[in-house]
Amino acid sequence: MNVFRPHTLEELFRIRREVRGTLFSGGTDVQVKIRSGSLSPTALIDTKEIRTEKIVKNDGILLIRMNTTYSDMLSFDLHEFPILQKIIPTIGSTQIRNRGTPLGNVCNASPAGDFLLSCYLYDASIRLLPTERVVKVEEFIKGPGNIALEPYEVAYELQFPVMNNYLCFFEKVGKRNSMNIATVSAGILLKLERCMVKDIRIAFGSVCPNVFRSTELEKKIIGSRFELPVFKEIAQEYSNAVSPISDVRATADYRRKLVRNLLIKAYFELGGENDVQGS
Ligand SMILES: Cc1cc2nc3c(=O)[nH]c(=O)nc-3n(C[C@H](O)[C@H](O)[C@H](O)COP(=O)(O)OP(=O)(O)OC[C@H]3O[C@@H](n4cnc5c(N)ncnc54)[C@H](O)[C@@H]3O)c2cc1C
Repeated sequence: MNVFRPHTLEELFRIRREVRGTLFSGGTDVQVKIRSGSLSPTALIDTKEIRTEKIVKNDGILLIRMNTTYSDMLSFDLHEFPILQKIIPTIGSTQIRNRGTPLGNVCNASPAGDFLLSCYLYDASIRLLPTERVVKVEEFIKGPGNIALEPYEVAYELQFPVMNNYLCFFEKVGKRNSMNIATVSAGILLKLERCMVKDIRIAFGSVCPNVFRSTELEKKIIGSRFELPVFKEIAQEYSNAVSPISDVRATADYRRKLVRNLLIKAYFELGGENDVQGS
């Protein structure tokens, strides 16, 4: 198998045009797939030697570029992105975070991808080169392991808008922490104004072929009082709306129950208990 290690983007574009190879950065997904036999690339294109400014904050947008690892992210000031501060330390081990990249997580397009889930919450976009296409991550993901990338394109940058004054919740349920794929994961961004829900974004991992987010269900909560009956009702609706499978990790029924229970747990963790006591 041929391995290419371009040092510049121009070299990468040329190789991409000439060779039908598999791109990789950290290789933490690609190597597992090669070892298990589910991927047999004719060539590998390793992007790690390409030097870019890895993380940039520009005009209220966080840009996470090619080859940025999770450890790079954790050394950056992420105080405006508290949910990323919660999610990233749960991804793999220190070794995996030293190699694995947010861009690789998105391009791997797993419904269990933890960083991918955060992209859904932020309506993040992905910039593709050399075409300079900028696409919403939610549209970029076509299905499990399937992305809207042209054969000659490469993913270059994730774009996250700063969203001020949001509370956040993230939880991953699994048999072991960190080194296992989540049975179900849940992420929430919530903006309250005088006990009313001004905005809410809710995403679940491992409950559908793609990360699950429903703006229709979110609209049902926006404008409501932040109180337990609202969350209990919507928790049941989410539990009905997801379409999990049964596998070695859990049954579909258990996953539906987790969806419901995680939403109720989120209500209390987001300060709901205080609200109930105070109202
Ligand atoms: C032990 C272990 C624990 C893990 N734990 C977690 C976890 O807790 N949560 C989680 O979400 N994931 C986990 N993972 C999965 C993996 O570490 C992450 O998905 C990681 O973010 C992948 O990044 P990478 O750079 O290693 O991707 P790579 O393996 O390099 O690539 C992943 C995919 O992206 C494509 N790709 C890479 N770069 C580009 C590019 N520039 N343009 C287009 N396509 C590209 C590749 O072709 C491949 O399809 C774990 C993996 C292991 C081995």
